[in-house]
Amino acid sequence: MSTHRDTQVLIVGTGFSGLGMAIELKRTGRHDFVVLEKAADLGGTWRDNSYPGCACDVPSHMYSFSFELNPRWSRMFAQQQEIWDYLRRVADKYDLRGHITFNSEFDGARWDEAAKVWHVETKHGDTYTAKALVAGVGALHIPNVPELPGIEEFRGKSFHSARWDHDYDLTGKKVAVVGTGASAIQFVPEIADRVESLTLFQRTPPWILPKADRSISAWEQRLFRLLPFTQRLYRDFVYWTRESSALGFAVNPKIMKFAQGIAKRHMVKQVPDRAMRAKLTPDYTMGCKRVLISNDYYPALRKPGVELVTDGIAEVREHSVVDSAGVEHEVDAIVYGTGFHVIDAFGYLDIVGKDGRNLAKEWQDTGIESHFGITVSGFPNFYFLLGPNTGLGHNSVVFMIESQIRYISQCLDLVDRHHADELDVRPEVQRAFNRELHRKLRKGVWTEGGCKSWYLDAQGVNRTVWPGFTWRYWMRTKKVRADDFTITARANRDRVPA
Ligand SMILES: Cc1cc2nc3c(=O)[nH]c(=O)nc-3n(C[C@H](O)[C@H](O)[C@H](O)COP(=O)(O)OP(=O)(O)OC[C@H]3O[C@@H](n4cnc5c(N)ncnc54)[C@H](O)[C@@H]3O)c2cc1C
Repeated sequence: MSTHRDTQVLIVGTGFSGLGMAIELKRTGRHDFVVLEKAADLGGTWRDNSYPGCACDVPSHMYSFSFELNPRWSRMFAQQQEIWDYLRRVADKYDLRGHITFNSEFDGARWDEAAKVWHVETKHGDTYTAKALVAGVGALHIPNVPELPGIEEFRGKSFHSARWDHDYDLTGKKVAVVGTGASAIQFVPEIADRVESLTLFQRTPPWILPKADRSISAWEQRLFRLLPFTQRLYRDFVYWTRESSALGFAVNPKIMKFAQGIAKRHMVKQVPDRAMRAKLTPDYTMGCKRVLISNDYYPALRKPGVELVTDGIAEVREHSVVDSAGVEHEVDAIVYGTGFHVIDAFGYLDIVGKDGRNLAKEWQDTGIESHFGITVSGFPNFYFLLGPNTGLGHNSVVFMIESQIRYISQCLDLVDRHHADELDVRPEVQRAFNRELHRKLRKGVWTEGGCKSWYLDAQGVNRTVWPGFTWRYWMRTKKVRADDFTITARANRDRVPA
């Protein structure tokens, strides 16, 4: 039976974004909120990606909430299960589960101009009205399976890395892996020993740096627990080390040459065969695509039964994959390590704002634009977490999420302080922000680096990444500027002067 509920704030998603927002609402005394989650459990990325070897690639002491440090991280780069456990522990500690409605997929929202609320509907037909709507739906959660000719003819097993089928045993099987991105380089070494053969289809080789991973000793964990400032110092060290790499990404891509040298030496050490190295060496500047880290990927490619195919895929047949050189590779299973729908990740959300404006349709025409990746003009009291151009190639996105959460919290305060019921970013403010953003992005490695990546839209415009230092983003979002918004007062619908 479908239900209806009125609430102050409706959050969608229970990854770092949704949970972080819920904690902030509680911290600021806002207890009337609902969190919708389409899955049966919380955790977002870290619930969905359970493939063998899945781990973060930003050190865990940085890839976690600043207000909820975890002295117990067992490795420098924690594995999926540990990060998922962390998120579940955080949700329990802040008593969030009572606010979450699981198996409840947000289907769309419509702004009610008269009542000044969002009408929200779920796929099951439940309805909500909410004064504010926060989308923490994640940009990397819709698996991207390539449209290969003949793919539907395949009679073996196939799945995407983010939907790993743990009931299907790959042991002794002939396996094709499509893609050599962040996920594939983590699971290929884990399965290479078990399978009879592994045919790895590479379209573009990634730049791979050595991974400074190790287990964290019991005494280090004790130190972090007993003297929390030591962990904070370590976190600061990680933060600033990673921030310094933004110089190469955003300021001067030539700086990347230094890191490319490290990556090349790493490859020479691990791949003695010159011809193989030629296949694995990228022809674009490091940073143009996500920079990867691994110590066991290259060695896995040298194992018996592992073959690297760089010819591309011509077609999939009932029991094989045929490469573009015409070689037919017989396989029992295909694993897609082909990433996610990123540019169109928000496009499936049916959000109708002022004057019947549909966000997805509007973005099709203008390109994906927002203000600070948080608000969009014409869509009052609606907020994104990790929205357009706030992803990162060099540091932890949890830092960005926390900046956004604080910003949204201040927006809610602003509405209350002005006894208002509508806060809408001014279009000229949004336009100016995007002009500046794209001017900076044009100079960055993502545009100048000579590659095509999931950071870019069909027009080659970067809609994904924040151009540069995260502390700049933090500073600019630290204090909400009231005059960036049109704030409409409650009783008489007057516009409140900022
Ligand atoms: C394998 C992998 C490793 C990564 N490692 C790193 C890393 O090391 N460092 C880093 O900074 N980033 C990393 N990322 C990026 C990662 O996605 C973010 O760090 C972060 O987890 C995003 O959190 P989120 O809450 O915004 O989104 P998500 O974690 O994707 O959570 C979104 C939630 O919203 C729910 N949802 C979506 N749509 C709906 C709907 N319509 N209705 C209801 N619920 C919905 C989803 O089910 C999900 O639970 C990694 C990503 C992947 C895939």
